[in-house]
Amino acid sequence: MSDSEHDARLEQNLALATRLQHSAYQAPGGFGAVQPPTWRASTVLFADVAAMRARDWRRKDGYTYGLHGTPTTFTLEQRLADIEGARHAVLCPSGLSAITLVDLALLAQGDAVLLPSNAYGPGAEFAQRSLRAWGIEAQAYDPLDPDSAARLITPRTRLLWLEAPGSVSMEMPDLRALVALARAHGVRTAIDNTWSAGIALRPFDLGIDISVQALTKYQSGGADVLMGAVLCRDDALHETLNLAHMRLGLGVAGDDAALVLRGLSSLALRYAAHDASARRIAQWLAQQPQVRRVLHPALPDSPGHAHWLRDCSAAAGLFSFTFVPRVTPEQVDAFVDALRLFGIGYSWGGPRSLVVPYAIDAMRGAAWRDGSPLVRLAIGLEGADDLIADLRRAMGGALPA
Ligand SMILES: *Cc1c(COP(=O)(O)O)cnc(C)c1O
Repeated sequence: MSDSEHDARLEQNLALATRLQHSAYQAPGGFGAVQPPTWRASTVLFADVAAMRARDWRRKDGYTYGLHGTPTTFTLEQRLADIEGARHAVLCPSGLSAITLVDLALLAQGDAVLLPSNAYGPGAEFAQRSLRAWGIEAQAYDPLDPDSAARLITPRTRLLWLEAPGSVSMEMPDLRALVALARAHGVRTAIDNTWSAGIALRPFDLGIDISVQALTKYQSGGADVLMGAVLCRDDALHETLNLAHMRLGLGVAGDDAALVLRGLSSLALRYAAHDASARRIAQWLAQQPQVRRVLHPALPDSPGHAHWLRDCSAAAGLFSFTFVPRVTPEQVDAFVDALRLFGIGYSWGGPRSLVVPYAIDAMRGAAWRDGSPLVRLAIGLEGADDLIADLRRAMGGALPA
């Protein structure tokens, strides 16, 4: 008996309350739409007990439970893997949870993990506080000095984190040297590759084991959804990550996955537009007398620029700049408040331009030698000339020439 025959038989002589749960109608198949359908499910129904018993949640040729995947989340995972040249992807409810999943999957008591000193702050906080409390040592290395990482590696070191470029201060590390170092010591490598969106930098071609994306940024593109992904090529590594993902109960909603899938359609065009606009604005800023340094990996005097030239094919719309020492932190705040087209807020990758002033000296400590206030810009999809005019006007009003 087919499902619809079964349902039709059920429908006879049943109370409305029951019929509301057991409709006989089946929409015809063969519907074609541009975007994949959005499946929402906690429960996944099985045809019979044998089918239920035969299911293994780890195999991606069927379905077990909403937390372990739906056609919508499987489709998003595969498309992300295709973009970055990975074989596997695991979706997480935020970029931060994707970072902590990697730590929790690969590290155990007694192990050590190395992070760049410019790592995404909340991920570094997880390592320095939670991992340390569980007996896992977390140490910071200078991302522009691979020898500083070499000096910290011991037989206990299990994971080397990379970030390209680093958060806020935007240093582009020598990924090839760091990967070679890790390989020589049998240490796994994971990169926070959010800035490149998997487009500008191809981590698996460089021999990096794991890539993490905050899909919250460019993949979503709407500034209205939070999601992360962990990508890898190696089957055994995927199994390790997938088991930890299951045990931690991580998953994403079908509606959120559909929003990100829709964003992917325009990802390449948006990324190129953010890149072109940000480079124009960065070059304009570099000419301004109040600006000391523009920290944009594609600009020649940005830290690690040679590594960007060697390893990247494009740049994102996110960069920072510092001011000459005579500009006070109060004047920087007044400049930020005077901007009209830039929203003040965290995150990036959406359609609107954003600005955040950072007390970078306090964040980086002795490692930060520049000594002047820093502002980070996320360039959105507005016209670059309008954004430059806004920056010029706000600078003229708030900063000494
Ligand atoms: C935003 C961001 C994250 C975290 O993503 P959420 O989805 O906000 O948790 C991680 N790494 C980098 C580099 C980011 O910019």
